[in-house]
Amino acid sequence: MALLELRSVTSGYGRSVVLRDVSLDVNAGEIVALIGANGAGKSTLLNTIMGVVPLMGGAVAFDGRPLARIATPAIVRAGLVQVPERRQLFGTMTVEENLRMGAYVRERGEVSALLESQYALFPILRERRGQAAQTLSGGQQQMVAIARALMAKPKMLLLDEPSLGLAPLIVQQIVDLIVALRGRGVTSLVVEQNAKVALAHADRGYVIETGRIATSGTAEALLGDAAVLEAYLGGADVGSNSMEERIRAKKLAMRADSGQKAGPQTIRGSRP
Ligand code: ATP
Repeated sequence: MALLELRSVTSGYGRSVVLRDVSLDVNAGEIVALIGANGAGKSTLLNTIMGVVPLMGGAVAFDGRPLARIATPAIVRAGLVQVPERRQLFGTMTVEENLRMGAYVRERGEVSALLESQYALFPILRERRGQAAQTLSGGQQQMVAIARALMAKPKMLLLDEPSLGLAPLIVQQIVDLIVALRGRGVTSLVVEQNAKVALAHADRGYVIETGRIATSGTAEALLGDAAVLEAYLGGADVGSNSMEERIRAKKLAMRADSGQKAGPQTIRGSRP
């Protein structure tokens, strides 16, 4: 059974239906990309999973448990945590205060150890722990957003455009981090407008167009699909050598079917 399962999901806002008949699976240990243009319904999909946008039809299950009528904090407690689009940090609060907010579903006694493990993963955040979040660079703010989500001890992250507005080098760091988290047992569903960025590190992908799944497949198959790449080439970082190299390496690795997963690592905080 998949860790996250969506079956024929319909949802939207008031009388406006945005998602229609969306079915999608994410297995434990996978990184799955959800690719789509502006307004295709990617954020609506994540918000529907989290119970923020009401389900109009179909079913969502996480870890074998139906999520309909489950309140968002209980979903977080079950191990499913969203890293929202544009980070949504508490800008005037310090880095550490933001991180503590992420632990709202954990026991008080766990918080120090959870903080310590985020600082071990992101040494730059330890240095900046007393600084207001809004004074950090975009890449560092994204690290705070991910670290805040990790404070809830998730089994799975829903990452909404983690590369948005970041320079290619920083995008690469965030990608590496998502892969490293997989090595620590954290499954990810990553929303991206840019197919190349998304598929460079994913196992599989889904393409969403005007609220429906248009196509899906392995990352390798989607990377080989000219129509997908043409439609979702994305921003200026597409041509970056490191990303191209990464895609080539991924294709080779997939062919060799190595099955190797990245181990834990730390991520440095260079400015974009
Ligand atoms: P983006 O990358 O721009 O965030 P997206 O693929 O995440 O795009 P959504 O934000 O899910 O797309 O938007 C899908 C559709 O739902 C759009 O037509 C949008 O106008 C509409 N929509 C999004 N949020 C709301 C809302 N709170 N109320 C009404 N309609 C909304």
